[in-house]
Amino acid sequence: MTKYQEYLQNYDGEPMRIMEVCGTHTAAISHCGIHSILSPKIKLISGPGCPVCVTVTAYIDRLVELALTPGCVVVSFGDLLRVRGSSRSLNDAKALGGQVRMVYTPMDTLKLAAAEPDKTFIFAAVGFETTAPVYAMLLEEALRAGIQNIRLLTSLKTMPPVIDWVCANQGGIDGFLAPGHVSVITGSEIFRPLAERYSIPFVVSGFEPEQILLSLYALVKCRGMGKALNLYPSVVTPGGNHTAQQSVKKYFMPCDASWRGMGLIPGSGLCLRPEYQQFDSGSVALTEDHDANPACCCAKVLTGAIGPRQCPLFGKVCTPQSPQGACMVSTEGSCYQYYVNKRE
Ligand code: SF4
Repeated sequence: MTKYQEYLQNYDGEPMRIMEVCGTHTAAISHCGIHSILSPKIKLISGPGCPVCVTVTAYIDRLVELALTPGCVVVSFGDLLRVRGSSRSLNDAKALGGQVRMVYTPMDTLKLAAAEPDKTFIFAAVGFETTAPVYAMLLEEALRAGIQNIRLLTSLKTMPPVIDWVCANQGGIDGFLAPGHVSVITGSEIFRPLAERYSIPFVVSGFEPEQILLSLYALVKCRGMGKALNLYPSVVTPGGNHTAQQSVKKYFMPCDASWRGMGLIPGSGLCLRPEYQQFDSGSVALTEDHDANPACCCAKVLTGAIGPRQCPLFGKVCTPQSPQGACMVSTEGSCYQYYVNKRE
């Protein structure tokens, strides 16, 4: 047992509520059982870091509508296909004859669009700072190759504004395990203003069990301090990846964005710049949001107000085989992770 593990196991100080913002951290913690070795005084709470989970109903509805429009093809990552909008998912649209293609990277859209120039290929551009550079690369390459039948339906989001929202509206968080992948692009310093404003420590962490344990140890030790630490220096720098930041800046600009369960958060999204509007598939004003099943508590789970098991549908009618909400669909969703790893 490492000294960090021993400390976290025997901790008997002030109760700590630590939010792991990133879906990949939720998955790593659940998979390795880190939550189960912590002192009862340390609670881990999953946050709004799963891009599929935070996508609002109106966005899914718009994708379904596009998939059913003659001449249009919706291109998406696999997770999103199973999320239900008001009444249908993209998989449902496909079953009705809609055009939907699943890809592993947005760059695959180039080949699809070049092969069928008579159709319009709309990429479901969800994600955070990590994914935005890939969409910028897609547009760069489409322009270079003269491919004109690619569009984006953007639902891109950025982390600091939503963490700010959680601190201001939800409260009760004593430390943040800051997202490792996002930090590769943004840099670790992006969290310092939030740490100082709310006097809460932020620790950028890797995804290996020892890295997570060390980061949790640092968070507990820094309780009440407005510090931003980078404990993932092998890939995260204070200023982040400038090349990626510049390429995102070239095509996208900040905008207000709607988050499931949180509503419209000013400046929390990225949309296409006016000079690249030819790539936009009508992304603006997609604000309507409600859970497809009225009893689903995704909105509360995403903000850390309740844990997945407190949802009355968890494990009964809602399972990965029959998901009732987005948090049970994505492998990064907290309900999915709590279910498959039997996390309490
Ligand atoms: Fe929604 Fe299912 Fe999670 Fe309940 S268990 S919050 S229904 S996804």
